[in-house]
Amino acid sequence: MQLQVTEIFKSIQGESTLSGTPCVFIRLTGCNLRCIYCDTVYAYEGGDWLSIDDILSKIDDYNCDLVEITGGEPLLQDGVYSLIRALLETGKLVLIETNGSIDIERAQALKQPMNQVQGKVQDKGSKIQGLKIIMDIKCPDSGMSDKINWENLSELDKNDEVKFVINSREDYDWSKEIIKKYSLTDRCHILMSPVYDNLTAGELSEWIINDNLNVRLNLQIHKYIWGESVRGV
Ligand code: SF4
Repeated sequence: MQLQVTEIFKSIQGESTLSGTPCVFIRLTGCNLRCIYCDTVYAYEGGDWLSIDDILSKIDDYNCDLVEITGGEPLLQDGVYSLIRALLETGKLVLIETNGSIDIERAQALKQPMNQVQGKVQDKGSKIQGLKIIMDIKCPDSGMSDKINWENLSELDKNDEVKFVINSREDYDWSKEIIKKYSLTDRCHILMSPVYDNLTAGELSEWIINDNLNVRLNLQIHKYIWGESVRGV
């Protein structure tokens, strides 16, 4: 089995509750959405076809326990589930960053047997897990909010995370409504991230503070460290 891979690299995790932690990223090729602010257009096509053994071997070289599978949209490729399983079997802590349009049930099903044995992520309670899903909820300014698979929200557990990428005050107000409507605070971690260059971290922070919103401000740390257009970091 092979997967189409745009790039594999080690960097600093910048967009989750594990933000700031060294992490190896596997960026799978292809995306079914076209967000207006997309910063990974280069992942829509191309890349190399790699076997799972090839991928594991490359990851081994980085000597890092945290691995994120991202895209594009990683759940588009059928081989991703075998890759997740293989990574869990080697004891890695696996993050899946998905755009929220694809059913996450199959990925969630991989948690049950593995997390009892290999788990490392400490959740809000006592349960420990080795696989964490980070799901985007596409706000209106992305142009893709009609593609959200809302049934995914009932699949999330307390270790998982949802991420709102906020481009404007309208996006922020919409997100607040969604958080309330689906009781997201009780379901999982909630991240809010400003669109780099369109909304400042300061503006978004003020809105969150004023509303006493129970969310985590999320910055694309790699852009602050290396600049917004550098790839493979
Ligand atoms: S889901 Fe991600 S990769 Fe796909 S178009 Fe949107 S921002 Fe780009």
